Parts: sequence; C-alpha cells; structure tokens
Amino acid sequence: MIEAVEYKENGSLLLGVQFHPEIEEENPLFDWLVSSTKKYLTLVNRENPIKYYENYKIVPYKSKYPKCQRDSNLEENTAIAWKKLQNFLKENGYNAEIESAYRPKGLQEEIYNQIKSDEGTDYAEVYVAKLGYSEHELGLAIDVCLQKNELWLCGFEEELSPFYTFLEEHCSNFGFIIRYPKGKEQITKYNYEPWHIRYVGSIEIAKEIMAKHVTLEEYLCEKY
Ligand SMILES: [Zn+2]
Repeated sequence: MIEAVEYKENGSLLLGVQFHPEIEEENPLFDWLVSSTKKYLTLVNRENPIKYYENYKIVPYKSKYPKCQRDSNLEENTAIAWKKLQNFLKENGYNAEIESAYRPKGLQEEIYNQIKSDEGTDYAEVYVAKLGYSEHELGLAIDVCLQKNELWLCGFEEELSPFYTFLEEHCSNFGFIIRYPKGKEQITKYNYEPWHIRYVGSIEIAKEIMAKHVTLEEYLCEKY
C-alpha cells in the first residue's frame, strides 16, 4: 500500500510517500503495481527500495558517449521508447545519447562510494542513490547527454539549457517524465536533475504528470 505521509524536517512540513509491504497482499494496488503492464509506475526513492528486480528485463544498448562503458543498457520497453525519443531529438537538431542508464548492483554502489569520496557525503546524499534505492538499477532511468560539435556535454553545462527545456517539453510524448523537477526537491529528496528521465510505461500517464507539474510521488498519492 502506498500512503502519503506528512512529516517535519527542520521545522517545515514535508510530504513523503510510504510503501507498506505488510498490507500489500490485501491491496489490489500492489498487484497492479507489479503486474507486467503497470510495473513501470513502481516507486523507487530514498524511502522505497526496489523489491522486484526480476520483473525488469534488461536489454543491451550501446551508447556512443565514449565515457559510457558499462551502464547504457536499458529495460526492454524503455529501450524502445528511448530510441523513438532519440530519433525525435535528432530530427530537431539534438544529438542526444545515454550518459548512464542501467546500473547493475555493483556499479550503483561503486558510483555512490566514488561520489561520496570525491564530493563528500552531503553531495552524495542529494545526487546519488544508495544501493537498492535507484531507478537506474531497474533500467527505467536514463541520464541524457548531448553531442555538440564533437564535444560531449552533460550535467549542468550552461549550453545544455535549451536542450533540457526541449526535453522537458517533449519527453512525455514518449512515456518519459523529468523525475526530479525544479522546486520539488523536498518531495523527491533529490536536487533538480534536468537530465534524468524516467520511463513510466504510458504516454498518457507521462503527459498527465508533466502537464500537472507533479512528481511521481504526488501522482501516485493523488491516484491511489
Ligand atoms: Zn540519473
């Protein structure tokens, strides 16, 4: 069962979402969420770890981004949607690629530890997920980068602003949402990440989420 919970942090009232596995059997929502068609709405965040790795079939994808060696594979339907989105972006002058997508267990842990030692715990806590708590471990999330005049751009490079705006405007047409939007940091517990798109399995649902400017947490709270 998914439940909206309010809690206090540093004096302000925040909204979070709690998954209650102990009452999942009686709750049709649980079956619905892990069913083959709706599994794409699974909620993975800092409070809700991955429960069903085996539901997601990972297929190979080769990114042209030279630094991406081990983590460009994707969940099978996410891969189909990504190729369509990538073609659309190309038609509009954006040579987009995968900077990071599916991360096998060992890799997620490695990335977290690396960033923690490079940038410190505080930074790691707001940008990276711990092992078992990342959508990247299901192959449903993609960090997008861009090739421009033989240069590869990623992250918060200023030149990427128009691309991120374009991506935000159109990604839902392919079933993706911007998972960590600006202004929703207190709900997602992640800083704004314009490059991180999440496949939700349905163009209709993606469009609804993006049009309403809500997070996946808020969407699930409102619907169920
Ligand atoms: Zn990401």
